[in-house]
Amino acid sequence: MPIVVVLSTGGTISSRPGHDDAVVSTDGAADLVGRTAHGDGVVVEAVDVLRTGSYNLDLAALRTIAEAVAAQLERPEVDGVVVTHGTDTLEETAFLLDLVHDDPRPVVVTGAQRSADVADGDGPRNLGDAVAVAASPHARDCGVLVAFGGTILPARGTRKMHTTAAQPFRALDAGPLGTVADGDVRITQRPERLKPLPAATAAFDDARVDVVSLYPGADAALLDAAVAAGARGVVLAATGIGNANATVVGAVRRHVDGGVVVALSSRVPEGPVQPVYGDGGGVDLVRAGA
Ligand code: ASP
Repeated sequence: MPIVVVLSTGGTISSRPGHDDAVVSTDGAADLVGRTAHGDGVVVEAVDVLRTGSYNLDLAALRTIAEAVAAQLERPEVDGVVVTHGTDTLEETAFLLDLVHDDPRPVVVTGAQRSADVADGDGPRNLGDAVAVAASPHARDCGVLVAFGGTILPARGTRKMHTTAAQPFRALDAGPLGTVADGDVRITQRPERLKPLPAATAAFDDARVDVVSLYPGADAALLDAAVAAGARGVVLAATGIGNANATVVGAVRRHVDGGVVVALSSRVPEGPVQPVYGDGGGVDLVRAGA
């Protein structure tokens, strides 16, 4: 029988209202597994890693999760790993896990939009689906996956796009990889796999990289503040295809000259980033060293 290990980290899937009615993570891995229907043909092990809302996680916590996954993959008898996680930053953890994943076995991240105390919560179904995907030979060699709302998504490119919908995740640009329903796992598209990166070390925990968003009237203040706070890298969530303005271009030049890595991205969810425009646009940003 396939063996799947469920690693729990907290989030809505393990949350209930506390004494002041605020919802907080309370349930552990054994609670989650205990109320989830999974096929008779799978042995499910439950392991607690963290117990917190994912809005609280920092880079050290992400590394803790990555190391917990790696420890399970050291066990040859394990067929797949599931990580239960808050949905707020599920995409960051899934992406990190995928960047370092060097194994044919599936790692599947899931969570819930409705907390464990509500009668029609989505947690048990999402967890049952994730276990089915992790146990499935069809899901091998697909890297890290997100199973949520009956859909199987690639970790890379998946974003939370809705605060309350039963299916809050979308695989931007790429689309879903398949579906899962009542234990039936169908993979209709296989993701391109990149060469895995080495596992994060302790240096990862305080590698400060800030995200600076651009908008009408944006000046250099936030970029300068990020660098003053010790950022070694800054990601610009630029407008459109990757544009800023002359003031920001000047600040980018200053900080790149000072050794800061500036990555040009876009606040637009889908499509490529390309240097097309002058006058403070992407051509100027790239010339300034972004
Ligand atoms: N809304 C979140 C969740 O779905 C809270 C969190 O990210 O922990 O779990």
